[in-house]
Amino acid sequence: MNDPAQALRDFQPTREFFIGIDSDGCVFDSMEIKHKECFTPMFIKHFGLQPVSKYAREVWDFVNLYSKTRGVNRFPALSNALDLLAKRPEVIARKVSVPSPDPLDEWMTRETKLSNSSLTKEVQGGNRDLENVLAWSNAVNAMIEDLVHGVPPFPLVPESLQKLNTQADAMVISQTPAAALEREWAEHDIARHVRIIAGQEMGTKTEHLKFAAAGKYPANKILMVGDAPGDFKAAKSNGALFYPILPGGEEKSWQRFFDEALQVFFAGEYAGEYEAELVQAFNASLPEKPRW
Ligand SMILES: [Mg+2]
Repeated sequence: MNDPAQALRDFQPTREFFIGIDSDGCVFDSMEIKHKECFTPMFIKHFGLQPVSKYAREVWDFVNLYSKTRGVNRFPALSNALDLLAKRPEVIARKVSVPSPDPLDEWMTRETKLSNSSLTKEVQGGNRDLENVLAWSNAVNAMIEDLVHGVPPFPLVPESLQKLNTQADAMVISQTPAAALEREWAEHDIARHVRIIAGQEMGTKTEHLKFAAAGKYPANKILMVGDAPGDFKAAKSNGALFYPILPGGEEKSWQRFFDEALQVFFAGEYAGEYEAELVQAFNASLPEKPRW
């Protein structure tokens, strides 16, 4: 069997430092358009949520954009959203039955590569309970391919990539399908600044960092740049450092990265107080619980 993650295991350092970079919401200002115009309409359509579309939209946005689960892989996000929606008083009052996430949860306990291709295999293997999840996921991909164009990287991203390349190997670490990542990084001519583009097919973000960087560089020379708690977790479970791109403050974050943080990291002075202050601001930027 061909394991897509083998490219990460085979990866060899060419520079002193390693920097992993998330894509959606970190490099690209693409979270709003993808979730609001692509994921949410297909969530409503494929799970029969038309009678509670307003609440379905609020729940989807909360899970994927405005809470601690921001940026999570689409399958756990779907499970979480179905669960939260079913418990909303407005939904209960309308006697709308929300599909159960149980079959999806069962699959996710067995599968670490939560991708369209692994789900396709599961459904082709006879798991009919996941047919609607696959139809939704495919529809989302088609919608994104059709609609999401011309969304450029945040200001100073290309310049930052160029600058970090002088001393670091860079890699895209994302839970987006690889085809979309390759299209988006090529469209804006920034793919040439990274060694590998790792998407959902190569495993979780924690696995990406573990296979590509852990043990190949000293831990204090590995940095993960991201906009979501999942990016922070991937860094910390590998003993690596984390630089947050603050949701809502992305431009300032890239400015600080370009002007200051990158040099601090290269100087070996990033760990400790400098990182702690950034992480504290990051933790304060997203709520844990919904307001409804
Ligand atoms: Mg992100």
